[in-house]
Order: sequence, then C-alpha cells, then structure tokens
Amino acid sequence: MELIRHVIGGAEVESSDGGTFETVDPWTREPWALVARGTRADVERALAAARRAFDQGPWPRMGHEQRGRLLHRLADLLVERGEELARADTADMGKPITVMRSADVPRAAANFRFFADHARLRPSESFPMDSGHHVYVRYEPAGVVAAIAPWNFPLMLETWKIAPALAWGNTVVLKPAEDSPASATIMARLALEAGFPEGVLNVVHGFGPDAPGQWLTESPAVDRITFTGESATGRAIARAAAANLTPVSLELGGKGANVVFGDADLESAVPWSIRAIFSNSGQVCLAGSRLFVERPVYDEFLDRFVAAAEAMVLGDPGDERTTLGPLASGTHYGKVTGYLDTIAEDGGKILTGGVADDGWFVKPTIAVDLPSGARACREEIFGPVVTVTPFEGEDEAIALANDTPYGLNAMLFSEGLRRAHRVSAALKAGTVWVNCFFIRDLRAPFGGVGDSGWGREGGDYSREFCTEPKAVVMEI
Ligand code: NAD
Repeated sequence: MELIRHVIGGAEVESSDGGTFETVDPWTREPWALVARGTRADVERALAAARRAFDQGPWPRMGHEQRGRLLHRLADLLVERGEELARADTADMGKPITVMRSADVPRAAANFRFFADHARLRPSESFPMDSGHHVYVRYEPAGVVAAIAPWNFPLMLETWKIAPALAWGNTVVLKPAEDSPASATIMARLALEAGFPEGVLNVVHGFGPDAPGQWLTESPAVDRITFTGESATGRAIARAAAANLTPVSLELGGKGANVVFGDADLESAVPWSIRAIFSNSGQVCLAGSRLFVERPVYDEFLDRFVAAAEAMVLGDPGDERTTLGPLASGTHYGKVTGYLDTIAEDGGKILTGGVADDGWFVKPTIAVDLPSGARACREEIFGPVVTVTPFEGEDEAIALANDTPYGLNAMLFSEGLRRAHRVSAALKAGTVWVNCFFIRDLRAPFGGVGDSGWGREGGDYSREFCTEPKAVVMEI
C-alpha cells in the first residue's frame, strides 16, 4: 500500500518512530493507503521548520507580488493535478467524484488566488491627526500558524485556512483530519513544485487528542491556531490555547434552520432545500438540517421534497451518476444510524429514508412529528437526516429557527422583499441565505455565533486574524 508521508522542511518524511495508520475507503470499506502517524518529535520538527522559514527564510520578506505569484502557481497546479486531488478525497471520505471536480478542487484553487490578490491589493489605513501627527497601519505576519482541519471538505477547507495565512507571510503547520490525509500531502508536494521555500507549508498527519492535534494547540511555538471541526473539540482547543494566550479562530458545528414561507417559490425552494441537507451526504456544517415550513404549503412542499429525496442516486462515489456517497467512516456511520433510532423513541416518524441495505450508506431521511426537544432536532447529526416542522407566521418561524445553541447559518425562502430583510435581521446566525444556499463571496465574513464558533474568516476578517496590525505614529 502507498504510504502518505508528512511534509516537513521541504521533504516528505516518515514518522520519527516509523509508525503508521490506515486510511479506509468508505465505499470499499477497505484500507487504501498507509499514513505516517505523527509523533511529538514530528510535531516539534515541523514547528521548528516553520519557525526557521519564518525567522530566516524569504517567505515573510518577499512582498505580496512575489508571494502572490507563487500562490497563483500553486493554484494552477491544483487545477492541473485536480484529478489526483479529487480521487484522493473521494477515496478517503466518499464524496462523489463529480463534486470534487466541479466544486472542491476549483474552490481550493480559488482560495489561493483570492487571498493572494486580496493581500496584494487591500489598502491599509492611515489617520491624519489634529495634533500634526499621522498614524498608519502595517499588517505584519503573525508567525507560525497551526491549521487543524476536518474530513468533510478536506482539500477545500484546508486551503481556506492556509491560503490567508500564507498570503500574509506566515508559515504553516497543517494537521489534516485522520480520516482524510491524502490530499494535504499532495498539496504540500505541489507547493514545493510551485517554488515555495522549504518549511513554509508543513503537513503532520495523525490524530487529535493526545496526538499531533492537541500537541500543536498546546505549543508555545505557535502564534495562531485556526481550527475547523466539532464544537466539543473547539472547546478543548480554546482551553489549550488559553495557556499560551494563543489567538484562536474556531469554525465549529451547526444545526442550520431552513425556513420556507408560504409565499416561497417552491420550484426553487425544494431543490435548494434538497441540496442544503443532502449534499455531501449531509456531512456539512452548513446543512439545513432543521426545516420549518409554513402551514399552508406544508403538504405540497413535503410531497415534492420527499419525491426529490427519493430520486437521489446512492452508490460508488467514483461513479459519475452517484449523487449521494457513503458516510465517511464506520465510526461516523454508527453515530448517524444511532440518531435514526432516536427518531421513533422521541415520538417522530421517518417519512422516507433510513439505513440502506449495504455499506456505510444512509438514505436521504426525512423525519416529521418530532417535538422541538427531540435529539434529532437539537444535536448535530452530520448526516443525510432532516427534521421537518410546520409553523404559523413569521414570529413562530423566528422563534423555532433561533431555538438552538448553534448559529452558523440559516436559509429562508420567500418572495416577500420586506419579510426577507426583516427575518434575515432576526435570525441568529453568521450567514443567512435568502432564496439560495452555499453561495459564497470570499470577501464576506464567514463564521458562527454561539456553539458554532469564535471569530470570522474571509477577506479582511482573515487579515485581522493572520496578522499583527501595527500602528506607526509619526510626527510631521
Ligand atoms: P473533529 O473536531 O472531530 O476533528 C477535526 C480535527 O480536529 C481533526 O483533524 C482532528 O484530528 C482534530 N482534533 C480532534 N481532537 C482534537 C484535540 N483535542 N486537539 C486538537 N485537535 C483535535 O471534527 P470532524 O468530525 O473532523 O468534523 C466534523 C465537524 O466539523 C462537524 O461538527 C462540522 O459541523 C464541523 N465543521 C465546521 C465547519 C465550519 O466552517 N464551521 C466546516 C466544516 C466542518
């Protein structure tokens, strides 16, 4: 079996003790590669390489134009080798290959292009003072950034975290999720091919608790921690980071509300709602997993929604006809099917879906008649399972949508302009999508409130996090 290595200081290396673990293809349920299992010494080696590259190497000093050219060159290579990257993530976590090709790989390249250009073009502020002085702001790189990523959009989310860090002149140690390691090593290899100096982008593989993830967050040698993953992990990381006062950006879980008003255009609300909950087999932090439908259109919406869910094609994620792949791992399959069992226990009913006959598949599942306190309504299932609840009027919709500890995003469907603005303002969420879903502008803030996270990423928000803004005050 192929061995997926760490990338440290410009070289692909095995673990200091030679240890490995297997990465399993969720379609075949067989291991498809071995992965270097990071030790404490590997983490220290990677941090030392990143520190050297930051303190002594050209990267933080080369200026935005030259760095930007290298970041664009990496983006070109990601597209050129897109098929290899797409196959890596599909083998690791079961996402349909068509989605990797059309969405994840192009977006990974776009992340590098966007932040390269943003860093180069964004002006910094200056403030003329009445006293005859002026102040200007320098955005200086923070240092060594530890990026810890989840498995649901491996390449796409890793690039979202490291592109702004690199564009602003930091060096990086990336710890990909243990379930989806392959694309990170390929990307770091391509960065070296693009001409990145050694030590600028390092990758250490391994697990979270008592392993490379935790060791990175506890290290005083780290200047920033950017994390995407579960809320419980985010809490552990915030505690670890507090010991060194290391700034942390946390993109955490979600339990997105999707509110369909009686005046919605169901022709578009139904397909968007399907996409919102079933794409990537529901393994999406932004998933519209709590669907609220206004009473007058409840029956009609549900008829159409059930029919569209049943039309999805489960199967081999490598097959271009597949629209719903397996769940990413056996452990995760166990978690999601455990939630299916709670639906009847909590008084609800499954209209369509449930466990598929074979493999780590859960069919698109639509549950109704659940009380708002039901586990399936409150906890992040992270699978293709949606609860549907009727409501009467705007006030009830807002109250139901906001009744959650999470606040990553919400969707609303309505043809009423005033209502759309009013309800968007009232929803407790970092992003509200009106008559759409998943549309992103990388300049806009992205992040969540409550249990969904700390801080925002994107455009200037990433600059704020990845730099130490310095005020220089001059007498004129
Ligand atoms: P996870 O928290 O289990 O793992 C994420 C990463 O953290 C992995 O690399 C893991 O090894 C590492 N990790 C685990 N414990 C750690 C610890 N104690 N210290 C340091 N690192 C540790 O999450 P997951 O199951 O990989 O991903 C799914 C979760 O991610 C869901 O909750 C989902 O909503 C969330 N997510 C959020 C966003 C967002 O932008 N807000 C995007 C995607 C996924």
